[in-house]
Amino acid sequence: MKKVGIAIHGGAGTILRSSLTPEKEKQYTSALREALTLGYDILARGGSALDAVETAIKSLEDCPLFNAGHGSVYNSVGKHEMDASIMWGKDISAGAVALIRNVKNPIELARAVMEKSEHVFLCADGAEEFARQLKLRFEPDAYFDSDMRFAQWQEAIKSSGTFLDHNIQSNGKAPEALGEKKFGTVGAVALDLNGNLAAGTSTGGMTNKKFGRVGDSPIIGAGTYANNNTCAISCTGHGELFIRSVVAHDISCLIEYKNLTLEQACNEVVMKKLVAINGEGGLIAIDKNGNIEMPFNSEGMYRGMKNRDSELIAIYK
Ligand code: ASP
Repeated sequence: MKKVGIAIHGGAGTILRSSLTPEKEKQYTSALREALTLGYDILARGGSALDAVETAIKSLEDCPLFNAGHGSVYNSVGKHEMDASIMWGKDISAGAVALIRNVKNPIELARAVMEKSEHVFLCADGAEEFARQLKLRFEPDAYFDSDMRFAQWQEAIKSSGTFLDHNIQSNGKAPEALGEKKFGTVGAVALDLNGNLAAGTSTGGMTNKKFGRVGDSPIIGAGTYANNNTCAISCTGHGELFIRSVVAHDISCLIEYKNLTLEQACNEVVMKKLVAINGEGGLIAIDKNGNIEMPFNSEGMYRGMKNRDSELIAIYK
């Protein structure tokens, strides 16, 4: 019998014990546990990894604590633009959406792109039109608005103005994010009883993003990847660096072509390759044998895993 298992994340970043009140910590922990349990129960009943991944991510998207769905951050014009992707390791089919607005559960739309369209990646208005045709649920702007995210956006406007000017003039590089960096993206990976792997990722992207910026989360091979021959991966972190390192597919390749173990491949990419270019963040991974890894090179990562033998929810290093 295959060793079924699931891992989830709620974003990586500068998450210090000192910056979370015990009450907030409890809220995060119970939201993670709820998503993990919902996903695992599907696997334990013999359901598919795809259903487990979608269900766990939907639960995190519906929770305002995370930067995805309900809790998505503000872009530079005060709107919420969301990205998501999902991949099925059985036949390496995939679906992704970017820059979508008002769709309640972006991961559901990504799955619909995979299963109900002849495409892999739909963006903005067209993706929303597709969601409307499928009668997926939309919510008004007010559903995504929150005082906490609004305050973060105001902070970003103040600081990134300075950063932008300084950085662009001095070295032409993108501005470094603010002192307190939090990438609250959510994701899930799972292995089911039939040996099928699935991965999914959903995000509101980066606060104050502009010009239709899209990160790694909806990009198959960068933020999300699943292949029954190797592993399933969902990333969180500074998207630009994760795209350049093609992180999720790179880990699969190290297993497939170089026979590395999941642990070795994760270590190579997260702790060496990404660190070498200041690519802050982490990922969750499960391989075809049910081994689970949750490496990150940032201060913390909201994360959880569950299989037959163990269960873990953690935030800090
Ligand atoms: N990777 C996401 C992005 O760059 C952010 C995150 O992980 O929270 O859009």
